[in-house]
Amino acid sequence: MKPILKASGSSRRSVLKMAAGVAAAFLTGKDSLGAAFGDTSTRGDRKRALRIAHLTDIHVKPELQADKGLATCLRHVQQHHKPDLILDTGDTIFDSMAAEESRVRLLWELSQKIWKAECGVPVERAIGNHDVWGIRKKGSKTTGSEPLYGKKWIMSLHGWERPYRSFDRGGWHFVALDSVSPKEDGYIGHIDDEQFEWLGQDLARVAPRTPVLLFCHIPILSAAAFFKREPDESGDWRVPGSRMLIDARRLKDLFYKHRNVKVCLSGHLHVVDRVDYLGVSYLCGGAVSGGWWRGNCQECEPGYAVIDLYTDGTFDNKYVTYGWKPQA
Ligand SMILES: [Zn+2]
Repeated sequence: MKPILKASGSSRRSVLKMAAGVAAAFLTGKDSLGAAFGDTSTRGDRKRALRIAHLTDIHVKPELQADKGLATCLRHVQQHHKPDLILDTGDTIFDSMAAEESRVRLLWELSQKIWKAECGVPVERAIGNHDVWGIRKKGSKTTGSEPLYGKKWIMSLHGWERPYRSFDRGGWHFVALDSVSPKEDGYIGHIDDEQFEWLGQDLARVAPRTPVLLFCHIPILSAAAFFKREPDESGDWRVPGSRMLIDARRLKDLFYKHRNVKVCLSGHLHVVDRVDYLGVSYLCGGAVSGGWWRGNCQECEPGYAVIDLYTDGTFDNKYVTYGWKPQA
């Protein structure tokens, strides 16, 4: 079977290399992106629109000094990189899928306390699977009728009317997607029809020369998703719907109609990867928690990404580690 994922550019940017989770690798999005806007400027001519920090899979909890880890990370990113905006692509706490109400309350209070004390930068967020209360009914002892059940808890914390939304900043258009779709006693990565329709309408309203960045928890397209599980006995690769969006095809088709969609950020896999496909760069941003605060996840150290967005629709992305080591 032919690979469905294709890396553009040099071997330095090969999909397999990125899938291995290269910490602190420096990546440029210049080559394929500027061309879409007919831009022939060299890198030095570009004007930075804004700098974002992409933090994901924080999984904060009182154990393993994860609270101290998050505070350390927030200090590091603000001191060393001075972002204009932080994007948190979810799994902010660990865990509310299978936890009872009192534990979930403790986790959100802990998380909010740290963010309030340590972060002086605007933050926008997407929902992770671990942020959805009661997906696993047995462990959470939920019935589904609780006022804060499911996504209502995180939505109430942030005053969101919907679990997805869009906004403009620095000449770019940003879309926060809700990629977590509860299913039976678990979830899959899926954008439901109502949200998909909203997304199409939202993108149609954006001026064609305004670059667009989408962010969500579960990757739309990922190379690393292939390495999370051994191939079947049949010899086939299998990527579960909980690893990568099952409706990636129709999103890919939608983005192909809107060529100003340039970047899609995600988390969930706890590794760093990049897939360039049809003019869109899909970037998975490692994990602040690394391997759930127990060290690395595969080859990926705890860290976050710093992404410079330029007015011509190009970007630079680098993964930064902040020196966190597992604590007792
Ligand atoms: Zn996740």
